Amino acid sequence: AQGDGRSCVRFFEPEMDMHVERRIEIERELRSAITADIIEPHYQPFVSLKSNCIIGFEALARWENRTFGHIPPDLFIPIAEETGLINALGNQLLRRACFDANTWPEMFTLAFNISPIQLRDPALGQRILSILGQTGFSPSRLEIEITESAFVEKTGVAKTVMDELRQAGVRIALDDFGTGYATLSQLLSFRLDKIKIDRSFVSHLDDSTDSQVIVRAILGIANGFGLTATAEGVEDAGQLAYLVANGCAEGQGSLFSDAVPAAGIPALLSREPGR
Ligand code: C2E
Ligand code: CA
Ligand code: CA
Ligand code: CA
Repeated sequence: AQGDGRSCVRFFEPEMDMHVERRIEIERELRSAITADIIEPHYQPFVSLKSNCIIGFEALARWENRTFGHIPPDLFIPIAEETGLINALGNQLLRRACFDANTWPEMFTLAFNISPIQLRDPALGQRILSILGQTGFSPSRLEIEITESAFVEKTGVAKTVMDELRQAGVRIALDDFGTGYATLSQLLSFRLDKIKIDRSFVSHLDDSTDSQVIVRAILGIANGFGLTATAEGVEDAGQLAYLVANGCAEGQGSLFSDAVPAAGIPALLSREPGR
């Protein structure tokens, strides 16, 4: 078929066949993993850049599968979103995360990712609050992370849900800031507490003046609107120094720690000076 001068989509490429088959298989595995409660949250700390102390942990879903091994969330979360499984998975992960976070010292925040698909459900707010009630985890210790695409939905459901949660004391963080298509005025019409500067800007701070300009601009917006800024994906001391020098409040990344299982948190905390 090569060199016939036409470009067309061929549906029966062997590779593509495999791809589709594998996807279907992963979807089936995902259903049974949710039923068996096998997908578990791990926790990545975020750190105050003033005190250098851990102030909270972000829950990140981890799935070890007996056939495929480690399946990354960037692969299974989109499948969960497309199949509607994200609601069941999200509830399960939140329940687990609240349960784990109840064993941490009280000053630590739990940050939890909510998919824009979940925010299409008007009952989401009540469901989250009832999980908090059942587990006895205080709404004021929960921060939900939401990406920009949730802020451009026209239905208004996302806004209602976010308002409901805010009223209960839950904080709202805008995830991956700078990578989506929302306008600033769309974003500001929601009452946010925090913006998380996307890793793609942070990782090029050392070699790209464009990234430096963007990061400074984001910090200016955060500061001007009274929002906390967290830099994602901080990997080295040079990036950290730049962020500190420009007044970024919080950082997260492999320089501090990657995500660890719940059982690894005491060891992380014992590493901290003064604790
Ligand atoms: P995210 O919310 O932007 O999470 C940050 C991602 O960056 C995580 O990837 C984290 O492990 C990774 N990361 C953190 N620090 C560094 C660093 O210094 N260097 C590098 N290279 N990477 C770093 P992960 O865990 O693979 O998650 C990917 C995405 O999957 C998340 O991006 C989030 O959008 C989604 N996700 C993960 N867990 C959940 C969940 O429970 N619910 C939902 N709805 N989405 C989730
Ligand atoms: Ca996040
Ligand atoms: Ca992010
Ligand atoms: Ca992301």
